[in-house]
Amino acid sequence: MQSPETPAAKLPPQHAPLDQFPVVAGELQIGGQPLSRLADRVGRTPFYAYDRRQLSARVQSLRTALPAGIELHYAMKANPMPALVAHMAGLVDGIDVASGGELQVALDAGADPREISFAGPGKSELELRQALAAGILINIESFREVGLLARLCGETGYAARVAVRVNPDFELKSSGMKMGGGPKQFGVDAEQVPELLKAIGDAGLGFEGFHLFAGSQNLKPEAIIEAQQKSFELAVRLAEAAPAPVRVLNLGGGFGIPYFPGEQRLDLTLIGENLAALQARAHALLPQARLVIELGRYLVGEAGLYVCRVVDRKVSRGQVYLVTDGGLHHHLAASGNFGQVIRKNYPVAIGNRMGGETEAGVSVVGPLCTPLDLLGERMALAQAQPGDLVVVFQSGAYGVTASPQNFLSHPAAAEVLV
Ligand SMILES: *Cc1c(COP(=O)(O)O)cnc(C)c1O
Repeated sequence: MQSPETPAAKLPPQHAPLDQFPVVAGELQIGGQPLSRLADRVGRTPFYAYDRRQLSARVQSLRTALPAGIELHYAMKANPMPALVAHMAGLVDGIDVASGGELQVALDAGADPREISFAGPGKSELELRQALAAGILINIESFREVGLLARLCGETGYAARVAVRVNPDFELKSSGMKMGGGPKQFGVDAEQVPELLKAIGDAGLGFEGFHLFAGSQNLKPEAIIEAQQKSFELAVRLAEAAPAPVRVLNLGGGFGIPYFPGEQRLDLTLIGENLAALQARAHALLPQARLVIELGRYLVGEAGLYVCRVVDRKVSRGQVYLVTDGGLHHHLAASGNFGQVIRKNYPVAIGNRMGGETEAGVSVVGPLCTPLDLLGERMALAQAQPGDLVVVFQSGAYGVTASPQNFLSHPAAAEVLV
């Protein structure tokens, strides 16, 4: 950290170093291949590329940082590409799905149904029937789901495996997205959980534990630790009213990745120490419980790139615009329109001209007829010409499936796992 007096502090904040993709002879390498060769292999731009070695390395480093015995789940809404989910299913201890469609992909990917859990408000009768038939864990989010599951079990003879998703009486501080605390559509308010647990017992559903998810995209270890502590305390209190011992306690996740200038990678040291302490307490207070952490973007976000090609280079009243064949219709988050309050630049580079001279004040835009179609605003980039490849880093999560692909009827983005 620079003190405010030093001249260096006057420099604008920089992106965290993105050294996960090596550069050889001025060209970015993905999965060991030069970017332009990969573009030829894919056969078209724009595309998303995900690097399997990086996915594996991330899970490995996380397991090293967290105590043994903490189970790692992949929340697949971050990136549901089937090949990627299949790769992740072989690395993590479970997959968290949020729809019947995601359940299908997880099962096709070879995930063990015993290790799949299903959360989300408004589950349809059809989705609950699919989940029962698959034998996965259903995170109950309302009284309605209890009644519906009881009826479906009666009709089908399938046994229900359920956990209660609790809307906690606290929130995850400094989160990109808050998903618990106060009034929320997610889970059942902690105050109502004892009554819900009674209904679950009366209905004869197989109670297995609790699920708490307070928020997302957090880069502050102390905030994550506080939420995990409070989640644990709350689960211990609620367990007193449970119809069966707690066998799974999903403490949520919320681990963030650095997207914007000035953001740093999350330090897991203290989080790991805290989880070890919680494990020891769980051993005494909830002796049958496995502790689970569920992560989406932290596992896959940094392993992915979005790649598009420069179509035109224009200068408007002195300002350079690189017009590309990609944009917000494929990557809403990089355009600043996926939940951001203030638009900031994702890390962007000219992937076939790395490490050379840069020109300042360059904006990267897409082909859509809207000023919102902006991938980079007034950035320092290598001098690019039509044909060059623009890459947006940190794009492995909430990319193609979180973007309005049909907006303006341009072709869809391709996706490859390399
Ligand atoms: C979206 C979601 C996640 C994943 O969030 P990330 O920020 O991608 O880690 C995890 N759990 C639940 C319940 C979610 O809804």
